[in-house]
Amino acid sequence: MRYCPANAIRIADGATEVIEEKCVACGLCVSECGNCGHSVRDDTGRVRALLSSGRPVVCVLATEFVAALHPMPTSEIENTVEALGFYAIESTLLGEELVAMAYERLHSREGGLPVLRSTCPVTSGWVRRFHPKLTQALAPIVPPYVAQARLIKALYPADVAVVYVSPCYARKDEFADPELGGAVDAVIDFIELKRMLAAANPPPGANGMQVCGVRRPSPIKELSLTDGYPRATLESRNLTSADVAVVRGLRALDRLLTAIEAGEAAPAIVDMLNCEGCIDGPAVNPGLSVFAKRNIDAAEREGRGRSTVSSRALLRYLPAVEVVRAHSADPVHLPEPSEEQIDVILAEGEFESREMTPDCGACGYETCVEHAVAIFQGNSTWDMCFPLQRRLLIRHAKALEESATLDPLTALWNRRVFAERLEDEMARHSRYGHKVSLMMMDIDAFKEVNDRLGHLAGDRVLSAVSELLRQSLRTTDIASRYGGDEFALILPSVGKTEAFAAAEKLRTLIEALSLLVQRDGQEESVAVRVSIGVASAGVHASDPIGLIEAADRALYEAKAAGRNQVRLAAG
Ligand code: GH3
Ligand code: MG
Repeated sequence: MRYCPANAIRIADGATEVIEEKCVACGLCVSECGNCGHSVRDDTGRVRALLSSGRPVVCVLATEFVAALHPMPTSEIENTVEALGFYAIESTLLGEELVAMAYERLHSREGGLPVLRSTCPVTSGWVRRFHPKLTQALAPIVPPYVAQARLIKALYPADVAVVYVSPCYARKDEFADPELGGAVDAVIDFIELKRMLAAANPPPGANGMQVCGVRRPSPIKELSLTDGYPRATLESRNLTSADVAVVRGLRALDRLLTAIEAGEAAPAIVDMLNCEGCIDGPAVNPGLSVFAKRNIDAAEREGRGRSTVSSRALLRYLPAVEVVRAHSADPVHLPEPSEEQIDVILAEGEFESREMTPDCGACGYETCVEHAVAIFQGNSTWDMCFPLQRRLLIRHAKALEESATLDPLTALWNRRVFAERLEDEMARHSRYGHKVSLMMMDIDAFKEVNDRLGHLAGDRVLSAVSELLRQSLRTTDIASRYGGDEFALILPSVGKTEAFAAAEKLRTLIEALSLLVQRDGQEESVAVRVSIGVASAGVHASDPIGLIEAADRALYEAKAAGRNQVRLAAG
């Protein structure tokens, strides 16, 4: 979701999936998130079916084939591919030249809308989907492989089928566009071709198949550039002027198209590609950098000992083929929320107002409002919002920490924290002689409260006593619920006399509590009394267990002596 420039990835059932309507098949999700299950549809079955159909099948390799099939030696490529059962191998070179000539003719006309290069299906798909009004500005010219296919259909036996091997994935759908006239019968990418070659059994070349042994001279490119615009067109223009806009990448393209629509830019030519040209296509040896691939390509073209022929001269002897095409807009239709609905969704993401939205972009959308729209359209969820998830995580971590340390009814420390803190304080006492005292407090006749007034009333008493403890004790004191109606209070730096006095103070405060509870729809006051046993480290015990036992014994004595009183441990 974060990488897709078209925001064409949605989250469904915790997994990502492609929103077909918005996808321009740039292939970024496969290269960035291939491990998450994004993969390219396998179209090799279609090619195998053609190969076993009995029809002659011509394999058209994109001109980047040397870099794409590297390190397979160029000398082997033709035989190896042909041995899969292809009738012949061609490259798109002549198609590229035919298309370059068509662009030259187009640019000889002056005025009108800008001409948007239409050879790249990713960028032309972007125009048709996201800037449908500019569809009519797309150059009405077929892509080179279609021109090549038409040439093949004119030159080869009548039932010839054409398979194009593409540098990018977008061609795999594009070739079926009715506006391209059905000249191509199947498209696979170079990765699929490599898979077919690897799976060939027996390996290509070893099956005794008759392959064309005559090597034709290779035409040299005169009219088209490897990755850019037709040479002659660019030569006639001033590249630094606003006349020619060269854009690479979909986000840059989108900015330019938006500016053209707003009348802020009016280039005569837009040379638009998603990548650095087809050699940078996702299926062209993805392990190599574009620079390495260009080197491989250049070395091949400049290699010595190749007989070459002028493409311009060659085209004069070849049948004329139609390279004109139409383009139809394909606007994305998704439901649009009202402003109120956007606000409701933002509130669900805990953004109370639009001013509060951070627009951090971590969800893959530029603004929180755009993300809310995507959520409305069912294409995202708040799970993708990093700031919200961080807040929730902190909140949950805090709650988890509290549930592990606090008693849920009274919100006093639980017994586990009590044991840890007593251990710490006793260690400090042993090491440095610091004073520490312990009170064990138990509510008197608590069972009676439960029995007479009900368990809820009992809970209220426990909560009220706890609240009183929280308010009356020092912040350094540790008040915990030891269990049932029993509380354990650690008083650091407090000796036995002071602890006794503190216990006595607590006892009287609790005695003075006026607590009202409901009984049979009537309010009734409950008298709460406590007994407390006090013990001090060093005086009554020198280890945690000993101190608890001493305070417990004192508590028992307080109970035995009639309750509602404080007893200091013996010793
Ligand atoms: P004594 O004066 O000897 O302490 O008598 P007592 O009735 O208070 O007896 P004791 O301390 O043994 O009884 C504790 C009672 O507290 C028993 C149990 O039902 C009740 N109790 C324990 N936990 C809870 C609780 O979370 N809520 C309520 N309402 N009652 C509880
Ligand atoms: Mg009790």
